[in-house]
Amino acid sequence: MNPLSLDQPWGRGSAAVHKHHFAGDTPLPDSSWLPRGLGRSYGDVCVNDGGTLLHTFRQDRLIAFDTTTGVIECEAGASLADIAEVALRNGWFLPVTPGTRFVTVGGAIANDVHGKNHQHAGTFGRYVRSLTLRRSDSVSELKPGDALFSATVAGMGLTGLIERVRLQLIRVPGAGIVQQTKLFGRADALASVDEFLALEAASGDWPYTVGWIDTMHHRLRGVFFRGNHCRGDLAWHKPVPTTLALPIDMPGWLLRPWSAKAFNGAYFRAQSMNTAMQSELPLWQFFYPLDAVSAWNRAYGKRGFVQYQFVVPKAAARESVTQILTHLRTSNVASYLGVIKSFGDIRSPGLMSFPMPGVTVTVDIAAPAERELRALDRADAMVADVGGRVYPAKDSRMSSVMFKRFFPQWRELEALRDCNVSSSFWRRVTSDGSGK
Ligand SMILES: Cc1cc2nc3c(=O)[nH]c(=O)nc-3n(C[C@H](O)[C@H](O)[C@H](O)COP(=O)(O)OP(=O)(O)OC[C@H]3O[C@@H](n4cnc5c(N)ncnc54)[C@H](O)[C@@H]3O)c2cc1C
Repeated sequence: MNPLSLDQPWGRGSAAVHKHHFAGDTPLPDSSWLPRGLGRSYGDVCVNDGGTLLHTFRQDRLIAFDTTTGVIECEAGASLADIAEVALRNGWFLPVTPGTRFVTVGGAIANDVHGKNHQHAGTFGRYVRSLTLRRSDSVSELKPGDALFSATVAGMGLTGLIERVRLQLIRVPGAGIVQQTKLFGRADALASVDEFLALEAASGDWPYTVGWIDTMHHRLRGVFFRGNHCRGDLAWHKPVPTTLALPIDMPGWLLRPWSAKAFNGAYFRAQSMNTAMQSELPLWQFFYPLDAVSAWNRAYGKRGFVQYQFVVPKAAARESVTQILTHLRTSNVASYLGVIKSFGDIRSPGLMSFPMPGVTVTVDIAAPAERELRALDRADAMVADVGGRVYPAKDSRMSSVMFKRFFPQWRELEALRDCNVSSSFWRRVTSDGSGK
């Protein structure tokens, strides 16, 4: 399960040049290096232009699994896919999972990733019982509560190389998910956000909730999904294989506002015709629909894409989500995929964690030109003005000024950064010469 490219991030924009190094077989480099997982971050947090990438995907051993307590110990290059498969056979599953299983445990910690269950479970970092961190001058075992632990969770690899992890899993009845869906968005954009929030509020017994939104439609219509674990079929323990592959990059002329509109419209119509409001499906399909298509990022053409994810605090959420999405639509920023969900109040252990209590929205924008990038800059300012932030794991464009407004605590991470570790992202957003 090698990454698609050893150099590029998932959004593919960067043409960085790296030296490569593999964790475990040699001493740490003595000049600028950065740990790298499976390269599923969309932007330059996993890129170190001109420096070395320290690949971890070969350090993927599962070391011990206590099937009575659900604590698993593994090397940090183990993927969530590997862990989930072994765990499920024993009645356990990942406590938090992002929308792809092709992510390493080290990468999941370093971005403190979230899933569809943030309101119930918080972030991935909450389930790390301990980790071993190798720095240029030391190796130590860290536990929740240690300052370096808190800087390493969502530390974007900058505090050193996570080598081993002890992770708490959750009990599940089987490999199934019972899913309910409901269409929303009948009046205008503000009413749609209200409708979505009301659907979530009425789903207290459902750990997983998320909304797909048609950001190209003036009503901001969407489909609400909620899910819970169920027994399911025994055959569902095996993941749905990645069978389809996109053989070529999609031509740029296809990636225009009209095609985004048509794509979103077709998806909404397909969902409207689906009268089965409740179904049971393999959890792989519920959590990782995009994993069925290998290298789906080629759908965005050679110039790649930007995924823009922001969160705004609860009190401001209704109006500001509506205003930001209306701003993007009226600026003709075409998005093929829009997702909305709420973050709950559970505190994350990471100093730089992205989630905060509020509402988060994600949009994919193919090969953004200057005009779209300016519209995103304006959206950044709207997010910052209400005290929100933009997700570094998805970013390749936010300015240094905005980053420092979103994450005023960045200097605390800088103080604990390993002096030999740096990334293209960190140099770009700190841009005061302190990044090495
Ligand atoms: C289809 C898709 C869906 C996604 N859905 C979500 C989602 O729902 N929620 C969410 O939060 N994210 C989501 N993501 C983003 C993804 O989960 C994160 O970017 C994740 O961090 C990627 O892990 P990786 O193993 O590919 O690490 P990489 O992308 O290679 O690296 C990510 C960061 O981790 C650091 N790192 C990697 N390994 C180590 C290590 N051993 N020690 C120290 N630092 C390390 C790197 O330096 C880098 O800063 C999604 C991505 C995709 C492609």
